[in-house]
Amino acid sequence: MATVETVRGPVDTAALGTTLMHEHVFVLTPDMLQNYPAGWDEELKVADAVEKLRRLKAQGVDTIVDPTVVGLGRYIPRIQRVNEQVDLHIVVATGLYTYRDVPFPLHYVGPGTLLDGEEPLVQLFVSDITEGIAGTGVKAAFLKCAIDEPGLTPGVERVMRAVAKAHRATGAPITVHTNVHNRSGLEVQRVLREEGVDLTRVVIGHSGDSTDLDYLRQLADAGSILGMDRFGLDVLLPFEQRVETVVRLCTEGYADRMVLSQDASCYIDWFPAGVVEQVMPNWHYEHVLRDVVPALRERGVSEDQIRTMLVENPRRYFEHVEPY
Ligand SMILES: [Zn+2]
Repeated sequence: MATVETVRGPVDTAALGTTLMHEHVFVLTPDMLQNYPAGWDEELKVADAVEKLRRLKAQGVDTIVDPTVVGLGRYIPRIQRVNEQVDLHIVVATGLYTYRDVPFPLHYVGPGTLLDGEEPLVQLFVSDITEGIAGTGVKAAFLKCAIDEPGLTPGVERVMRAVAKAHRATGAPITVHTNVHNRSGLEVQRVLREEGVDLTRVVIGHSGDSTDLDYLRQLADAGSILGMDRFGLDVLLPFEQRVETVVRLCTEGYADRMVLSQDASCYIDWFPAGVVEQVMPNWHYEHVLRDVVPALRERGVSEDQIRTMLVENPRRYFEHVEPY
């Protein structure tokens, strides 16, 4: 039996069921929150998350994969509190989220820095996977890093290479936040390939923001899984185009290289109150099963292909975790 670590402990991968591969619970900026706490009420936010995740479970989702790492306000005790009250598998990550620089506690240590020495990030990531996160007993099951509009800055490259090394040391799979406008998924594949990473163990996140089929085929042909994972962010790419791109790739035989998700959260402090509901009304947990899956069916995507994207691909992604 293959198992995957979740907030509530190891789970048989066969029990993951319908899985949304990129959803956050909370996206927060802790040092802003500590100094400007207006708008945050811990009890209310936990209760709100419980309610939203219960509705998601009732809708038919069994598992969410939450790539909230340092840089996005990861705080596992809060996720444990929520998960105690919701019967849902929540898979959490280790890694670091930055578009440019590493945080200051890493600025002067590590290869090529003022104090030089070994890369401390690798051990931090490995220990989250093998020992657990910050004494909570919860283990991370995958690795996350990011590359965005500024491209492969020294900080971004440092984190990506550390993620690759922690992946090889543990076997835990990788998810990368990418920006489709500079086709940065290809840069990710180049760096990870240089580090000896098996690209089939990598989700190229936010690929679904693109309609560039040549780009998407190139990523998938190299073996990676395309994160069609921002359904509901219609301001970045409208619903119809997101759906059409998935339909087209299914027709071409790529269903085994795509996962569906929304990149939504119960609460994100990046936008003023009320803005998400007003500007991005479909950006919530229930959009994929409520609107996307029926639209895919209507356009000829088969039940088998839907199951492949929502159940089989996530399961396969979390299996075969051996160091190499
Ligand atoms: Zn995200």
